[in-house]
Amino acid sequence: MKVFLRDIPPDGLELARHITASDIDLPQDNFTVASPIELVVFLNKVGDEVIGHVEAKGKYIFNCARCLEQTEQVRDDKFEFFVDIDPTTEFVELTSEIREELIIALSSVVLCQKDCRGMCPRCGMNLNKEKCVCK
Ligand SMILES: [Zn+2]
Ligand SMILES: [Zn+2]
Repeated sequence: MKVFLRDIPPDGLELARHITASDIDLPQDNFTVASPIELVVFLNKVGDEVIGHVEAKGKYIFNCARCLEQTEQVRDDKFEFFVDIDPTTEFVELTSEIREELIIALSSVVLCQKDCRGMCPRCGMNLNKEKCVCK
């Protein structure tokens, strides 16, 4: 996703895209992207920087951090990035900026429900579903 600086008007540029994980090489280690991510990027040239405001709406499948059950989450992540530019800069490459920020946003701990009871440390039973007999 390359944006040429000459295409960014003084009052900013808004871009809307649907992207998949592979479009931006998003590693899916602790989650799976379940639908295309709706991306809205607003770019602004301010002095010798380009400031990007990003909103990323998507549906993801995580493993619950406590009980390890798969859980689907619809998220609306908002973040900003800054790219330094100099007189020789012709364009900014958004892909890596968006990837890095999304990785940070999506590395947060996810639970299947707020009060997930987790797994019994002894028998491994999912305590949301059943009660085990361990003491
Ligand atoms: Zn859970
Ligand atoms: Zn148990």
